[in-house]
Amino acid sequence: SYRKGGYHAVRVGDQFAGGRYIAQRKLGWGQFSTVWLAFDTTNDTYVALKIQKSAAQFVQAALHEIDVLSSIADGAPSNSKFVVQLIDHFKHTGPNGQHQCMVLEFLGDSLLRLVRYNRYKGLPMNKVREICQCILIGLDYLHREHGIIHTDLKLENVLLVSTIDPAKDPVRSGVSPILERPEGNINGAVTSLIEKKLKRRARRAVAKISGQRGSMGEAPNSDRNIDGIDVRCKVVDFGNACWADKPFAEEIQTRQYRAPEVILQAGYSFSVDMWSFACIAFELATGDMLFTPKVGQGFSEDEDHLALMMELLGKMPRKVATAGMKSKDFFDRHGDLKRIRRLKFWPLNKLLIERYKLSESDAHEFSEFLLPLLDFAPEKRPTAEQCLQHPWLMEKDSVPDEMRNESSVEKVDVGISNLKIKVG
Ligand code: ADP
Ligand code: MG
Repeated sequence: SYRKGGYHAVRVGDQFAGGRYIAQRKLGWGQFSTVWLAFDTTNDTYVALKIQKSAAQFVQAALHEIDVLSSIADGAPSNSKFVVQLIDHFKHTGPNGQHQCMVLEFLGDSLLRLVRYNRYKGLPMNKVREICQCILIGLDYLHREHGIIHTDLKLENVLLVSTIDPAKDPVRSGVSPILERPEGNINGAVTSLIEKKLKRRARRAVAKISGQRGSMGEAPNSDRNIDGIDVRCKVVDFGNACWADKPFAEEIQTRQYRAPEVILQAGYSFSVDMWSFACIAFELATGDMLFTPKVGQGFSEDEDHLALMMELLGKMPRKVATAGMKSKDFFDRHGDLKRIRRLKFWPLNKLLIERYKLSESDAHEFSEFLLPLLDFAPEKRPTAEQCLQHPWLMEKDSVPDEMRNESSVEKVDVGISNLKIKVG
């Protein structure tokens, strides 16, 4: 892929945008791009530099993503903090062509890594609540303030936010404290162009992390304690996002997170994100994907997917089942699947208790939260705004204070203005 039209090869220390950004180490890659940790010499911070492949269709895709990200970045700062921020964008010419580059705030590991780190056991319920709260605030912001559908919500596309100040701790910044890889070679990554001061800081941080290795050892089956992590996260990857009034793709979403109306091609709106959100919440709590459809003898992956949905949620209302352009491929005129007949109904509540050993009350409350989001009729699913009001999210002291609406912020404001009046 490192050829004309493909990825741009980057070496540590490479400069971008006239020397403003200096490449440090590779963070990841996707079908369209490579993503690098870079040092922003203008703001003295670390950023994620996403360098797109250079062929025309990738340029097109990048321009679309920049379009979406720019509009998101324009919103009210308090609500936009649960979606990734675009800092800058520019073009970079290399041997393989001209590459669109996006400069994004530097975030940590994805939720998929968090679940893997926890050995696919499912996270404690209050962690699931905290994460759900973050995603919902992000979704509410996208849906209501921008009319944007994400269309590709999944664990990989929600990244953790570090609570560590990047300026104080360049190694650990952006990486969730427990998930980082201490073997990361930061000394080699810090380039000569960055002051020696930073280098020293980085070495100190490496020493600090190495000292902690004991508790992070990779002993098989050792239990990992994630109770101490303050979980914050942000929604990323807007390459497939669209404005609800301008949907451009018929087939959206990653298979396992795909809503029934997308499979049936019955049109879609914001509620497809709510379906995927429910799939994410289940996966966080159990460590398993909610639906993992497979092709079988005489039926397609799509039909298996619909069957799995009905085994969990009951029969799809005939009106919904027959409403799509592809409905006839799967359903007969009674609204029964054509090729998969005997469905084994295993409702969510029972599944959570019997397979995942949740307590009766946890299972009951969690199902009450999820089931409305998994309504076959898209228009009946709660919006992100409505979902944020659900009692399940308000449980005990699960939600950090500063995330409880703006009410606490208002109180502070009132206090200050009172003070001003008094002083005046
Ligand atoms: P693509 O559009 O090519 O799929 P993504 O936006 O999904 O690219 O990014 C690819 C990978 O780069 C991600 O899976 C993640 O590991 C990493 N990454 C992306 N954005 C950031 C960021 N802001 N901070 C840290 N890592 C990131
Ligand atoms: Mg991606």
